[in-house]
Amino acid sequence: TVAVVLFTSDLRLHDHPPLHAALQAADEVVPLFVLDAGIHAVGFDAPNRRAFLADCLSDLDSSLRHRGGRLVVRDGPVVTEVRAVAAECGATEVHVAAGVTAYAQRREERLREGLGEDGVALRVHETVITAVAPGAVTPSGSDHFAVFTPYFRRWSQVSSRQPLAAPRTVCVPDGVRGEPLPDRADVAGASRGLPAGGETTGRDRFARWSRSGLSRYEDRHDDLADDATSRLSPYLHFGALSALELVHRARAHGGPGAEAFVRQVCWRDFHHQVLAARPEASVKDYRTRHDRWRDEEDAAEDIAAWREGRTGYPVVDAAMRQLRHQGWMHNRARLLVASFLTKTLYVDWRIGARHFLDLLVDGDVVNNQLNWQWVAGTGTDTRPHRVLNPLVQAKRFDPDGTYVRRWVPELRSVSGRKVHEPWRLAAAERGELDYPDPLIDLADGLARFKHARGRD
Ligand code: FAD
Repeated sequence: TVAVVLFTSDLRLHDHPPLHAALQAADEVVPLFVLDAGIHAVGFDAPNRRAFLADCLSDLDSSLRHRGGRLVVRDGPVVTEVRAVAAECGATEVHVAAGVTAYAQRREERLREGLGEDGVALRVHETVITAVAPGAVTPSGSDHFAVFTPYFRRWSQVSSRQPLAAPRTVCVPDGVRGEPLPDRADVAGASRGLPAGGETTGRDRFARWSRSGLSRYEDRHDDLADDATSRLSPYLHFGALSALELVHRARAHGGPGAEAFVRQVCWRDFHHQVLAARPEASVKDYRTRHDRWRDEEDAAEDIAAWREGRTGYPVVDAAMRQLRHQGWMHNRARLLVASFLTKTLYVDWRIGARHFLDLLVDGDVVNNQLNWQWVAGTGTDTRPHRVLNPLVQAKRFDPDGTYVRRWVPELRSVSGRKVHEPWRLAAAERGELDYPDPLIDLADGLARFKHARGRD
């Protein structure tokens, strides 16, 4: 017998329940990935993610080849391609992990319908995206948790299954047609500092980082210059790493750093269970509605300055340039630039979220949209009116200005923390710098925000 395993956001061999089940159920298995025309059509396949995906697929193919198999890649509408592959290899079953987004759930329904017509069974396995499936823990009287801390408490008590080992051999039938693997070198417009993708790199990275970074994580994770976080988010986004396995391994490591890391991974699950219950929150305000954002056209110059990293607030500009250069940004930096856009410039969170999705290699509808809403005060933040002052943040999380000097070369000559307020430098030194004045007075931004939210 032959089974097809459809890989989607789970580009790995370790801890892969659908692959595991298919290998037990069938003599031969076709590992399949479809470059889905549906995702292309909505423009979600931005260059940084396309480049990282290409790495993930090459790595998956090479790991399968080490085990006697290979990856079959097809290009087109996902349901059509899965049906065609199943027909070509005479498969009786298609295995896939349950999706958590609305798009993935629709894909599942359409697959069930299409394969049903061909007499092929669709076997949907537990989600492999989160450590705990959305909806697995719920508060009484609701279908999801709207506040993180009680969710984390319940989530921590779930006794999850042990992560699965990677299979030793995978036997793929002959004669299944595949497209050539996409090549990262063919992707135009990707950021120059983009990390290499793939399960092998992701596993190496976690192994290396957990030896020194994990125990320092609790104390150092907010330090912008130290860059002490795991940088595993793109591997988690593409499922090159299993969130469940990371949680198991961090807990086995133990200590306050590991606990803080697990808590952060839980934020990812938290947002997934919110969006699974309220799919419309990817575009609409989740809790508090705000209709009075500035008009996009009126704010066009401010938005452009924010995107390009020339707001005149060095820490904001450093972060926006890191995003463009690496396709990634430190979490503390994401918080402060999102607060700056939505609360200081009073621009709709959707505009910022769109820009992030254009560039982030870990860009993810769930985590991006819901973190943006959290910062904008329309989402799950229990203190929606808090405003992060970029100067206070800069002095606290980049105390000697190293992060700013790394990303804003125009300010490299300014020593120490003075770099955070170039407008305070002596006129002669200020005059030497090719760097803009602040786009807005923070006090004016705060007054507008308070007024708009009816809190002055
Ligand atoms: P670490 O600090 O090492 O954390 C470990 C893992 O925990 C991360 O890889 C990530 O998977 C998860 N995690 C950590 N913080 C969060 C969080 N706040 N929400 C959800 N998961 C979290 N993360 C994305 O994966 N994709 C996004 O599109 C995304 N957009 C964001 C937009 C904004 C405005 C903000 C404030 C945050 C966003 N985040 C997003 C969350 C977070 O910033 C990144 O996950 C984190 O910076 C990734 O770096 P790391 O892997 O070194 O994280």
